[in-house]
Amino acid sequence: MKFIFGGVRGTSPVAQADFLKYGGDTTSVLIEGRGGEKLIIDAGTGLRALGGRLTAGTAGAEVLLLMTHYHLDHIMGLPSFALFYNKAWTVEIAAPRREAFEPDEVVRRILAKPFWPIQLDQLHARLKFTTLPAVAGSVRRYGGLDIRWCAVHHPEGCHAYRVDEPATGASVVFATDIEWRSSSEAEKRAFFLLCSQPRPARLLVMDGQFCRANIAKYKGWGHSAWEDNVEVAQQAGVRELLITHHAPQSNDAHLAKVEQAAHNRWQGAALAAAGMEVNING
Ligand SMILES: [Zn+2]
Ligand SMILES: [Zn+2]
Repeated sequence: MKFIFGGVRGTSPVAQADFLKYGGDTTSVLIEGRGGEKLIIDAGTGLRALGGRLTAGTAGAEVLLLMTHYHLDHIMGLPSFALFYNKAWTVEIAAPRREAFEPDEVVRRILAKPFWPIQLDQLHARLKFTTLPAVAGSVRRYGGLDIRWCAVHHPEGCHAYRVDEPATGASVVFATDIEWRSSSEAEKRAFFLLCSQPRPARLLVMDGQFCRANIAKYKGWGHSAWEDNVEVAQQAGVRELLITHHAPQSNDAHLAKVEQAAHNRWQGAALAAAGMEVNING
């Protein structure tokens, strides 16, 4: 199973020269299964690069797009997603119901006047919408991949996803937009369960937008400190941690210092960067 980062930036895209090493596009990642499965999580501006990769690699197929939540930095790339304008592709968009919102209604609203010139019923791709069950322990099978999820602490709610490839033993937990310090004991328990069942995940990708020195003033914003990521990863028993959702004001020099500090604290820790490809083995 391969994990590809299209975008790793939180809150807002950035484009200055000193942000290019880690990348300025907002959250969107691609998982490619051994059997050719294509699964995207979130539709930030990083979706543009992932759409280009998918259309360059094959004439057309099916992709499953999972949404963690609908804050703007996670949906900005959706209207210009290349696959929407290609009739050779089928795009299934799936998420658990969040507050009153199901994925079809959210996408219809984004692709509506006055926000975008092309409406949902004018797209060329075949679209499917799925509301995932909110019941704990639910599994969605997608080709050779098993997908699990749990709600995490974030304003307006957010879900973390876990993807397993039973044939290879590869597994990853993707937890963007999670405020660990404000999470209830029940939320923490559910998250540790996601990381550890059916076996400890190989890779954890987690929101570490802030650091312990400054996180107190961002209480309620919905994000974690990278030091918390390291503790969670060690406690959950995962083998590797990639810290993501980098703040828009964190330039490459700052992030390189964070990466070194995280690595010094635990050698399994590193920072996610746009364009990074990780081969996840069992
Ligand atoms: Zn975000
Ligand atoms: Zn958010």
